Amino acid sequence: MSSQSDFEFGPQLGRGSFGVVYQVIRKADGCACVCKQIQLSNMKRKAREEANKEVDLLRKVSHGCNYIVQYLGSFLEDDALHIIMEYCEKGDLSQYLKERQRSLEERAVWRFLLQIGMGLRWLHQNRILHRDIKTLNVFLKTNDDVRLGDLGVARVLSNTNFASTFVGTPYYLSPEICEEKPYNELSDVWAFGCVVYEMCTLRHPFEAKNQAALLIKILRGQFAPIDASYSDDLRTLIDGCMQRELVKRTKLAELLAKPAVISWASRLE
Ligand code: ADP
Ligand code: MG
Repeated sequence: MSSQSDFEFGPQLGRGSFGVVYQVIRKADGCACVCKQIQLSNMKRKAREEANKEVDLLRKVSHGCNYIVQYLGSFLEDDALHIIMEYCEKGDLSQYLKERQRSLEERAVWRFLLQIGMGLRWLHQNRILHRDIKTLNVFLKTNDDVRLGDLGVARVLSNTNFASTFVGTPYYLSPEICEEKPYNELSDVWAFGCVVYEMCTLRHPFEAKNQAALLIKILRGQFAPIDASYSDDLRTLIDGCMQRELVKRTKLAELLAKPAVISWASRLE
């Protein structure tokens, strides 16, 4: 069982919807990690322990896949849940796209989408929903390898006040969630489609001035096509993810098993 004193706290990397993130060094071996601190002051003891247990599960699951941010440990201290994770030196995909100011080449889109897709497929195979797929939660290592982050933390906190506070604009909401239907594996797929779209266009498929207008657009499900220079394979993949009707949307395992997708994967090896 570790504690704050096992880590050297460095600069604050940012503040998210759930807590504050610091860069830390694990004193035992000098390993660079991040520590996410989530205040649980208004949570009952049992709920806190459950949150801690849930993170422990994430730790075990994350170790089975190379495209997921590795969870290294967690502990409860000072009324806060501390989650220690692998440090992703290049920050998040949202920032990366912003700094580039131009959309990615086809090849780079495939490389990222395959890695994100494999991370998400692994979670789904382990019956874990991500619930918060967005470019802000896709992290990059020095060699541009992807790590899907913030997995399931939304679920850990789903019984707290955090879940109800909508922070920012919900660009990645799927139509069924707009209609207050239950979140499911295909809701993650929709958000994944939004991320792929964003890599090609630097825009969200649905944008609006306010939340109500955004929900209407999402429910209509019409978005501008990606640039004609991209392949039909890519368009087909995005379409498969962004079907309004759940029965028409493609599960991740199915999506990654399509011949066109396999062919892109082999070309990138
Ligand atoms: P959000 O709630 O908006 O998803 P987070 O709490 O996940 O925000 O992250 C807050 C900040 O910390 C962001 O700027 C993010 O890029 C950074 N961050 C989070 N996790 C990592 C990590 N594993 N490696 C590097 N930076 C991270
Ligand atoms: Mg996040």
